[in-house]
Amino acid sequence: MFVYEEAEIWFVAGSQHLYGPESLEQIKKNIQLVSEYFNKEANLPVRIVLKPLATKPDEIYRLCQEVNYSQNCVGLITWLHTFSPAKMWINGLTQLQKPLLQLHTQFNELVPWDSMDMDFMNLNQTAHGGREFGFIGSRMRLAHSIVTGYWKDKEVHEKIAKWMRVCVAIHEEKTMKVVRFGDNMREVAVTEGNKVSAQIKFGYSVNTHAVGDLVSVINSINNSDIAQLIEEYETLYQISPVAQVNGPKRQNLIEAAKIELGIKTFLEQGNYSAFTTTFEDLYGLAQLPGLAVQRLMEKGYGFAAEGDWKTAALLRTMKVMAKDLSGGTAFMEDYTYDFTKGNELVIGSHMLEVCPSITDDEVKPLLDIQPLGIGNKADPARLIFASKPGYAINASLIDIGNRFRLITNALQTIKQPYPLPNLPVACTVWKPLPSLDISAEAWILAGGAHHSVYTQALSMDYFRLYAQLHNIELLVIDENTEMCNFRNELRWNEIAYGNTNA
Ligand code: MN
Repeated sequence: MFVYEEAEIWFVAGSQHLYGPESLEQIKKNIQLVSEYFNKEANLPVRIVLKPLATKPDEIYRLCQEVNYSQNCVGLITWLHTFSPAKMWINGLTQLQKPLLQLHTQFNELVPWDSMDMDFMNLNQTAHGGREFGFIGSRMRLAHSIVTGYWKDKEVHEKIAKWMRVCVAIHEEKTMKVVRFGDNMREVAVTEGNKVSAQIKFGYSVNTHAVGDLVSVINSINNSDIAQLIEEYETLYQISPVAQVNGPKRQNLIEAAKIELGIKTFLEQGNYSAFTTTFEDLYGLAQLPGLAVQRLMEKGYGFAAEGDWKTAALLRTMKVMAKDLSGGTAFMEDYTYDFTKGNELVIGSHMLEVCPSITDDEVKPLLDIQPLGIGNKADPARLIFASKPGYAINASLIDIGNRFRLITNALQTIKQPYPLPNLPVACTVWKPLPSLDISAEAWILAGGAHHSVYTQALSMDYFRLYAQLHNIELLVIDENTEMCNFRNELRWNEIAYGNTNA
C-alpha cells in the first residue's frame, strides 16, 4: 500500500562545458560521492538515483521528460555544482510535472584558504550558480524548494527527508481512490465540496458505493477468519467482560470482526486507500463500524465519518508522509471545552472512530461494547484509550467555493487530567496554541471544520511543503498568531489565491 519501497528521487548536477572536460569529470566524481553518502549515511526515506550531468539544453529537456514518465520517480533534486546558465533549463523546467528541490551545497565544507586558486573557484561555484538557477525558478513561478547547507550536515538531511516524504504523498495522491459508503450527513455544510476540483487539484478520485455492496462482501466473510481475528483482538487488547466468551455482548464482537474483514476485503478488491461511512446510511449493517475503522486507520487507511471525503483523503495523505515516524495520525473532532481560567483545554474525540496510533504504547487499549444512541443499530465495538502527550497539529481541508484552503493549528497535547468513566470512547486532551480563545476564533473565522486530521508525527514544515507543492492556501494558527494579522491574511489571500483553482 505504501510506495516508499519503489520510490526514487532523481539527483542531477548542473554545469556547462566552459571549464573543460577535467572539471566535468571531477563534478561526476563529486556527485557520485554525495549520492552514495545520501543513500548510505543520511537516513533518507527515499532512494537517491544519480543521473548524468546536465550540461546542455537538450540533456536537461530529456531529463525532465524522463522524470515525468518514470513511474517510480517522485521528485527531482538539482545541484548547481558550477554555474549552469539558466536559459538552458527553461525548456526542461517548463515540462517538469514533479516536485523540484534545489540543493544549495558545495563539495568542500570549508574554504581552503592556503591553496585556493582559480581552477578551484571555477569548479566550486554553487554560491553563484545556485542564484542563476534560482532566478529562472522565480521567473517561471516554480516556487521550488531550496535546501542550503553542507551535504554531510544532519539538518540538510532532515530537510531533504521531509521534502521526500511530501513528494511520496503527492505522488500517491495521483492514484489514490477514496470510496464513500453513503453520502454526507444530511444538512451538514463543511463536509461538502467539489470532487471534480479535488481530483484536478490533488489527483485522488472520490466515488460512492451503495452500503448494500459493502454488506454483501461482509456477509461473504467466513467464520474461521472471524475466529482468527478475534484471537488477534484478544492478544492485542484488554477485552471488556461483556465481550468475552459467554459475555452478553459477545455476538456484537463477532459482528464487529466480520465488519472489519468485510471492509478490508472491499478496500483491497477495489484498490481503495481511504473511505468514509455515515451513521445515516447503515442499511444492512449490524452496527456502526467503530473498531473496524479504528484498526484500518492504524494500518494506514484514510478515514473520516459522516461522508467527509476531504478529511478521509487528507488523513491518508498524512499517513503516507508520516510512515515510520514516531507519533500517530488520526481522524479527530473538537468535542468539548474546559474553560478553567488560565488552563483552558479541548477534548478531542469522535463517536467511535479515533485511530489507536496516537495512544501510549505501554497501555493496551480497552475493547468495549457500549450502547450508541446515534444510528439506531446494535451496540458497537470500539477501542478506548488516551493519547500520548506532546506536540501535535490539527489540520482541516475545506472547499471555500473557488479553491481549497488548508487550516492548521499547533497543539500541546497533555496527559488526560481526570478519567472519563462514563464516556466510552478514545480521546485526547490538548491546549491549542497560542490560546484557546485565539485558536478557536482564528479557526472559526477561517471556516475550519469540526473534523480534522490530528497528527503527532508531522511538524508544520510538512504542511507548508504540501501546500506549497499544490499551490493551495495554508493558514497556520500557532504560538505567533495574532488576530489582527490573521484577519488581514484572510483578506489578502482572497486576492492571492482567488482564481487558482479549477
Ligand atoms: Mn463527526
